[in-house]
Formats: sequence, C-alpha cells, structure tokens
Amino acid sequence: MPVAIYPGTFDPVTFGHIDIAIRASKIFRKVYAVVAENPTKKPLFSARERREMLQEALGEHKKIEVVTYAGLIANCVRDYQATAIIRGLRALSDFEYEFQMAYTNRNLNDKADTVFLMPSVEYTYLSSSMVKQLSRLEGDVSSFVPEFVRLELLRKMGKER
Ligand code: ADP
Repeated sequence: MPVAIYPGTFDPVTFGHIDIAIRASKIFRKVYAVVAENPTKKPLFSARERREMLQEALGEHKKIEVVTYAGLIANCVRDYQATAIIRGLRALSDFEYEFQMAYTNRNLNDKADTVFLMPSVEYTYLSSSMVKQLSRLEGDVSSFVPEFVRLELLRKMGKER
C-alpha cells in the first residue's frame, strides 16, 4: 500500500486543505502533510505556526502525519519513500502551474507520480491568500477555516496593524 506526501505552504490551513488531506488518507496507507519551510511566497505565519495549525486541524486522523520540510519536493519524496505527491486541483487556473510542477518533480525524481484530487465543490474557490486578504479587511472567514485558525488570523492581523 503506497505512501503519499501532500506538500504545501498552508499559510494558513483552510477547509480546502483539510478536505484534500482526508480524501488522500482514504486512498493511501499513510499521508505526510508537508509544510514547506522555504516557499518562494513570503508566508504570513512561520513554518512552526503553520505546522501547529495543520496539526490541530488534522491531528485526529491517524493515517495523516504533519511534518515540515526544507528542500525540494523530489527529496522529500525520497526521504519519506513516497510514491505519490498529492495536490489539490481547484479551477482551471491551478492547472498550468501544477502541470509544470508535476513534470519538474517527475524529472527530478520519477519514483513518485503527482495525484490530483478535487475538493468538495464549496471549497473550489477557496485559497489561503483569499482568506488572508479577507482577514486584513476584517471580513468573516468562519466558513473557510476552523475556528482556531480564525482566531490566529485575528491575532496576527492585530499585530500587523
Ligand atoms: P502551495 O504554495 O504549494 O501551492 P498551498 O498551501 O497554497 O501551497 O496549497 C497546497 C495544496 O493544496 C495545493 O495543491 C493547492 O492546490 C491545494 N489547495 C489549496 N486550497 C485548496 C482548496 N480550497 N481546495 C483544494 N485544494 C486546495
């Protein structure tokens, strides 16, 4: 039974991420939800904060383990002996970037295939950046993230102001 990694920035974790991780855990023996420590994006939350929130969101799911990783996805695949890289596919707009990433990762390490999963339809237009933007403008994010993430966002935005 294969092992999968589910890499991302998770800045912060949303119901969309949770949906994908749970779907993956129904297919794979073990899913490592991997918080990228060194994304090119400048995250709002530190890697530790992102990991802790993801852990709280997914902790009850025994087949999912939350870890952080600094380095290439291709190396993470090797370290965890994974045969699949999970990515969530929302609208068509995700496709171009994901397509490029999947082929690049295959080129670097062909031991794993990228597996795309679609979230429940209500999360199709949900992204961490949208949640952050909403929070900055004091919009209600309670239908997009768990309550403890909403509170973390409030705390972070309070500090930003
Ligand atoms: P990255 O910077 O690697 O894209 P993200 O945290 O933005 O990190 O996303 C991690 C993965 O989760 C990506 O595959 C992304 O497409 C997927 N994802 C993010 N939000 C959603 C959502 N609402 N529904 C489904 N997949 C999602």
